[in-house]
Amino acid sequence: MQSKRPELAQSETVDELPKACLSEPEAVAFFERKRWPDGCACPHCGSVGVYQMKGRDGERSKRYLWRCRDCSRQFTVRTGTIFEESLLPMHKWARAFWEASSCKNGVSALELSRKLQVSYKTALFMLHRLRFAMQTDHRTPPPMTGTVEADETFVGGRIRRPNLGSKVPAHQKQKTVVFGLVQRGGHARLMQIPNVTGSVLSSQLREHVARSAHLMTDAAPQYILPGREYLAHDSVRHFDGEYVRHGNRNIHSNTVEALFGRLKKSLTGTYMAVSVKHLHRYLAQTEWLWNTKGLNDGERVEALIRKADGKRMKYAEQVGNKT
Ligand SMILES: [Zn+2]
Repeated sequence: MQSKRPELAQSETVDELPKACLSEPEAVAFFERKRWPDGCACPHCGSVGVYQMKGRDGERSKRYLWRCRDCSRQFTVRTGTIFEESLLPMHKWARAFWEASSCKNGVSALELSRKLQVSYKTALFMLHRLRFAMQTDHRTPPPMTGTVEADETFVGGRIRRPNLGSKVPAHQKQKTVVFGLVQRGGHARLMQIPNVTGSVLSSQLREHVARSAHLMTDAAPQYILPGREYLAHDSVRHFDGEYVRHGNRNIHSNTVEALFGRLKKSLTGTYMAVSVKHLHRYLAQTEWLWNTKGLNDGERVEALIRKADGKRMKYAEQVGNKT
């Protein structure tokens, strides 16, 4: 996925997007082509015996309805997706998919609100749905192999009371811990963890990393024991100013640090300092953008439309999502 392209890859989708962002019929046709590249299928029963419904004037129905011959139910390109219950026109969604897929740190609600000329609240709702689509189920992918970098970072939460005299450093009490894993030359995973004790780190590593992997961490003592379960374990002593091992430039955890850098950029301008309730959405976004960085913008939009399929997000799930 990280192959270097000698020239800019041409994308049909990028050519189609500007039109889809301007007109509703174009936008609906665009999403239909991308969602059903092999021909439309009924989202209720899977049948391909479907037809476009027509209005009295013989033109396509104003609501862009389809009907299934097998189950007789009606549907549109929105049915069974993240925008099923959205009243926003599809051309605004086309623009949102494009924006969300073309910025490496993710687009902010404020930017999206300006570009789409929708309220901040609407932009935030759209982004919540898009981030929900980006989410990858960590239980399904195979464990990470090869050289795997692991590290943890603290995000959100301002330090209000320094808790002087407490054994746990104040920044750990007030902030949320994010654990990151990157397989070099491969995918990344980000997850929220309750604390940075050896047992928590160890169970995360066991769940996500194959025993045959070469583990790279910093010199935190919590990694010593779990590190013994792997084929090899190297660490760099960040507190001694060592970021790349002198004499062996392969020994570092700079890739996972770069991933954290992107996560923190995506959190800038949000109210994350106040609430980390919706942190998982930002983790999903950073992870997905990282894992698709070998794709061009058009391919990324297509991938996101496919991921949005089957991911219905009920309005009720969003109530209170004022991040
Ligand atoms: Zn059907």
